[in-house]
Amino acid sequence: MVGAGFAGVECVRRLERRLGPDEADVTLVTPFSYQLYLPLLPQVASGVLTPQSIALSLRRSRKYRTRIIPGGAIGVDLKAKVCVIRTITDQTVDEPYDYLVLAPGSVTRTFDIPGLTDHAFGMKTLAEAAYIRDHVISQLDLADASQDPAERASRLQFVVVGGGYAGTETAACLQRLTHSAVKRYPRLDPRLIKWHLIDIAPKLMPELGDRLGRSAMEVLQRRGIEVSLGVSIEKAGPEEVTFTDGRVIPTRTLIWTAGVVASPLIATLGAETVRGRLAVTAEMSLPGHDGVFALGDAAAVPDVAKGLGNVCPPTAQHAMRQGRKVADNVVATLRGQSMEPYIHKDLGLVVDLGGKDAVSKPLGIELHGLPAQAVARGYHWSALRTNVAKTRVLTNWVLNAVAGDDFVRTGFQARKPAKLKDFEYTDAYMTPEQVREYVEGSGRGVS
Ligand SMILES: Cc1cc2nc3c(=O)[nH]c(=O)nc-3n(C[C@H](O)[C@H](O)[C@H](O)COP(=O)(O)OP(=O)(O)OC[C@H]3O[C@@H](n4cnc5c(N)ncnc54)[C@H](O)[C@@H]3O)c2cc1C
Repeated sequence: MVGAGFAGVECVRRLERRLGPDEADVTLVTPFSYQLYLPLLPQVASGVLTPQSIALSLRRSRKYRTRIIPGGAIGVDLKAKVCVIRTITDQTVDEPYDYLVLAPGSVTRTFDIPGLTDHAFGMKTLAEAAYIRDHVISQLDLADASQDPAERASRLQFVVVGGGYAGTETAACLQRLTHSAVKRYPRLDPRLIKWHLIDIAPKLMPELGDRLGRSAMEVLQRRGIEVSLGVSIEKAGPEEVTFTDGRVIPTRTLIWTAGVVASPLIATLGAETVRGRLAVTAEMSLPGHDGVFALGDAAAVPDVAKGLGNVCPPTAQHAMRQGRKVADNVVATLRGQSMEPYIHKDLGLVVDLGGKDAVSKPLGIELHGLPAQAVARGYHWSALRTNVAKTRVLTNWVLNAVAGDDFVRTGFQARKPAKLKDFEYTDAYMTPEQVREYVEGSGRGVS
């Protein structure tokens, strides 16, 4: 099993429950010892939740018998049935398999925009969320200390690119943070703080429909966030960002959340892909390679409920359910039974805009304001896998509602490189040829 996200952990836990101890050994390759509850990441960035509360331990119970290899898979040789792994101490090891389940998720999608990977922050890992929080608070601290009006202006403008749920929630949650924080900085003029949310698409979160999309937009605009649609980034620099409509925004904070692409691990297989995601059957198996499965953000799983030609969108909702179904299909293959297709009708979308603001569309019902917030938080809370995580998250929410935000800048990562390219390790992967050479060199190759 590769990847301990929504898909991987659901799959592993089900395999542990369904397989007898002598029936199979389960091995999980994961760089981290937790499952990250990504939808609540913007709330970590804004400090509503502590990082620990959305990092669900993989070692909570003695019942968990899976062997965990701490590292990342950097290549797969489908012919030799070997997975090549780089451990967290940078050793390269190979792991032969009989069955392989690939759930390495996705990485931030970037484009060939000058300066983008050098100057933009991502919002895809716990480290990035914690870093952005410190960075935003440090901009207030530095602007407060500065005597230079130009420096103040550039430190107090913030740009978020991506009008999907990740970008919208990030802009909304962080704007709330700076809005509350500025009251503690009497020397700073609150009117200088400006958040921009931009997207090349003509609509914000089109999956919400026109009415709710407009409602989300009104909430953001009421809070002073400038939403620009049909606009992207022309170039990015350390102290300014140029929009495609010609505006030049002085800023030291560019957050890039403009979509995801499948993990680079998928390309190492040399197999067919659909827009970078591994092409699999409705049973999530890889055609022509018995015993290999892929799911979640990394795979193009046919969306049978929507009809022919549709592929499941990269959401946690699908990844979790695919995880359970893949486990059942692995067990079925192992026992010589037939596999079943993955079928799930989308339950809708919830978008937490911070405080009492939210928009949600559960089962097609359009909600906004407090009812939407109750549904959004209730949904995420019930989807957290462990009771300890549920308790931590609920306690954090209550504490935040009662005691308000806090503005502590921890400084742990202050001088570390922390841009898009520094957190996702996208250059760690092998090419298909390097994988073959490595596996042959290790004596496991198939000629
Ligand atoms: C900010 C944000 C907000 C979101 N909000 C929502 C939402 O409200 N609702 C919703 O349904 N979805 C939401 N999503 C999308 C959702 O989180 C993803 O679709 C979901 O996490 C996909 O699950 P997965 O298991 O495929 O990947 P992930 O959950 O990303 O898990 C992949 C795992 O694989 C590990 N990994 C990566 N590479 C390797 C490797 N080479 N070897 C071993 N392990 C590896 C990673 O560390 C990670 O643990 C959001 C995403 C983000 C970023």
